[in-house]
Amino acid sequence: NTVVPPSDLNQKIRVCVRKRPMNKKEMERSEKDIAPLLNTRSIQINEPKLKLDLTRYIEQHTFIFDDVFDANSKNTSVYERTAFPLVKYMFEGGRATCFAYGQTGSGKTFTMLDPNHGLYVLAAKDIFALLKKPENEHLSAWIGLYEIYQGHIYDLLNERKKIYAREDAKRNVIISGLREYPIDNVGNLIQVFEFGSNERSTGSTVANDSSSRSHAVLQILLKPKNNRKKIYGKLSFIDLAGSERGADRGETDIKTRMEGAEINKSLLALKECIRALDQDKRHTPFRQSQLTQVLKDSFVGKSRTCMIATISPGGSNSEHTLNTLRYADR
Ligand code: ADP
Ligand code: MG
Repeated sequence: NTVVPPSDLNQKIRVCVRKRPMNKKEMERSEKDIAPLLNTRSIQINEPKLKLDLTRYIEQHTFIFDDVFDANSKNTSVYERTAFPLVKYMFEGGRATCFAYGQTGSGKTFTMLDPNHGLYVLAAKDIFALLKKPENEHLSAWIGLYEIYQGHIYDLLNERKKIYAREDAKRNVIISGLREYPIDNVGNLIQVFEFGSNERSTGSTVANDSSSRSHAVLQILLKPKNNRKKIYGKLSFIDLAGSERGADRGETDIKTRMEGAEINKSLLALKECIRALDQDKRHTPFRQSQLTQVLKDSFVGKSRTCMIATISPGGSNSEHTLNTLRYADR
């Protein structure tokens, strides 16, 4: 009977869950929805958070998150309560990061990077509208796009060139050689992003479903027009590797096992960094993986993070769904 304050959109960290609708296959198999939402609003007025319950198939697990988006929710409403506060924050000079975490097929890319209505497109619309305001006249938008695969960084806007993160004298992490492009409208941004995304799947030397084995990072930067070396604000959208990839699935293939170990390491490091942020710890273990290393500037100083854990509703995915919810809960 603890009373939880209403979820504040301007919290330093927000953890949300999004459930996708049943797909055709799941419907054909008449799978049961194992993650029904319990809206506690009607039960206890002071506890506006939502609960998720996996009672029917496995033992009961109830979780509370900052927001839970049901299967019928649209990207626009997810956006309002996840990325939109981060857009405003980057115009205040902050560094913001929005992650999608979940098993392959749970809706990470659909939520974050879909070219029609992904959160990055909705954010871009607001960003260019805000750039038109007189008080933001001195700023312009830039984008960079890279992927992290097996602990290495590949520039998706420069022919998958391998690039390296290093620390400068002020201990800021710099990804040297990352191509950044100035962008002045939404269409332009989508175009450049789509170009880079194609590099991710077709230009890749890794096996066909490379997108589930690597982390994709899209960064939108605000820079002063008169100093392109300076970063005023930053918003990163991160489509993480499929969380099931990090699990120990008793793979015998050495390459698959090494990939899994690397993904596991980076997802654990990410969890630890976010927890350290949440607890305002002095030490953030960002050095533990390439992923958290490149995100260092988003973990120290003026920063905000939103994690969107995506889940599948069907019983056949119960184990992965439970793992995702446990991760998000931590
Ligand atoms: P992931 O990137 O996590 O592997 P995807 O984003 O590719 O998963 O989603 C898998 C499939 O489910 C895609 O066909 C996508 O269009 C569909 N999908 C995912 N989330 C939703 C949603 N919220 N509403 C409708 N379709 C969705
Ligand atoms: Mg995907």
